[in-house]
Amino acid sequence: MRYAVISDVHANVEALERALADARGLGVDEIVCLGDIVGYGPLPAEALALVRANCETAIAGNHDDAVAGRFDVESFNDLAHDAALRHRGALSREDVAYLSSLPYTCRFGEAEAAHGDFTKPEEFRYVNSREAAAANFAADDAPLLFVGHTHVPCVFVRGEDGVVSRLEGDSFTLERGKRYLVNPGSVGYPRDAGAGAASTYAIYDTVERMVAFRRLPFYVGSVMQRGVQPASATRRRRALCAAFAAMAFAVLAAAGVAAWFAAAKDDGGEEAAMDVAPSMLIYCHTIDIPVGCRAIDPKLKLAKGSPPVLLQTVYLDGQNREIERESRQYKSGAKRRKIPQKALVAVKAKLSIYRTAEGDKPIIEAFSPCALP
Ligand code: ZN
Repeated sequence: MRYAVISDVHANVEALERALADARGLGVDEIVCLGDIVGYGPLPAEALALVRANCETAIAGNHDDAVAGRFDVESFNDLAHDAALRHRGALSREDVAYLSSLPYTCRFGEAEAAHGDFTKPEEFRYVNSREAAAANFAADDAPLLFVGHTHVPCVFVRGEDGVVSRLEGDSFTLERGKRYLVNPGSVGYPRDAGAGAASTYAIYDTVERMVAFRRLPFYVGSVMQRGVQPASATRRRRALCAAFAAMAFAVLAAAGVAAWFAAAKDDGGEEAAMDVAPSMLIYCHTIDIPVGCRAIDPKLKLAKGSPPVLLQTVYLDGQNREIERESRQYKSGAKRRKIPQKALVAVKAKLSIYRTAEGDKPIIEAFSPCALP
């Protein structure tokens, strides 16, 4: 029997389709999904439909639980929090019921799987150290354990002497007497996304007694955005610019994430009066302006050859009343701009990107605005 073990799809349909096609091409008998089908990405309903149609077994991840209302979204960062609420709205009642019905562990072949860890599967702890791996080997006696959650592929082995160590390499034989804990990494949201990032999953062959990682190309710009907060993220926005700066560099491709933009915009983000047709809006993003900030850095970068964009900044007071607005056209990107004198009392700034004319959409590579002292 050959299993494909996938995890952390995160509503990234493009990457999921690629992984499923790869697994089918290898002639797997069954596909097991270790959870986090939804969360973060642009197409939760489509991703869930694909998992339901293709995976014989699936278990719950923390993002699935958050969308289903079984896990507290307040513990999430803004990006994850917003996505969970948006995904809840994007799924049918039946889909949400399916997510709430997912078990926390499952068994296939000689393996046992959990999304986070085996000490408390419903609490989604991480196995990212030898100590955590040892605790997992103690918590479950299956010879082969699978977990996801960290988005980083790795293998721990427990020798007959009880010593736990990491195993390097992309494939290994399951030796009798030893026990293994395998994390297949993430199909839809590899943590090292960027140059060289790979969408990964694992093949488990019960006859050959082999586990092998599959690494597939991952196209960040096509579907997944990192470090960008959707427009409705209003909680915990008190963080200073440093917090934003620390977030991963935003990589967007306007074409691929149009659905994401639309969904984020419809998700309760407040609308200011516009002097451009709303249909030309590509994306909007509201940031807090902490006391003492005197500039805004939109961190906007357009791809080479992209049509220009119109960037509008609307400054708002504590009651969301408009204080001042300015609009400018940019051909390649926008850098730091002083906040106008009149708007220095503003507590928020809403930055909206519009296309300048009907026709091709601008290709946005980065947009992660922040306020600067
Ligand atoms: Zn995840």
